Amino acid sequence: MDATTLEQLKSEYRKSGARTGIKLDDDDMRKALSLLSYQGGPVVATPATELRYIEGLLRLPLDSIGEFSVIPASGQERCRCGRIPTALDIVAYAVSHKVHDEQLLRDTVIGVYNVFEFADEGRTAPCHRCGREFTTSSYWTHSYMYA
Ligand SMILES: [Zn+2]
Repeated sequence: MDATTLEQLKSEYRKSGARTGIKLDDDDMRKALSLLSYQGGPVVATPATELRYIEGLLRLPLDSIGEFSVIPASGQERCRCGRIPTALDIVAYAVSHKVHDEQLLRDTVIGVYNVFEFADEGRTAPCHRCGREFTTSSYWTHSYMYA
């Protein structure tokens, strides 16, 4: 893989048969994550207090999530209620609406394996404080990337 953008990388993986995402080994995951910096847009690091909250939601051990960053869709950096949406809003929504099986969410967040999930339109979730919807174009941990 010698892709220099995420779009190229996704198209290569799609040509090789991946549809909505792909599991990667550590080297390929690092390469994929390194391409995120060319995506543009402000990166929002989920604050430590909210990482702990996510751990609680997923019933994970304290401090098991080191980082969980998001790139908001253009113009969606701040909710009208004043909150800056983070990974917490997305995970809370996924848990409460059973978007994914909770064990799968847990495995993904703590990195049992590396997953690159292909984003097209971005993901929409309600604001954790007020419920207004917002869209995130990408988000990732060390072992999971939606982009
Ligand atoms: Zn809000």
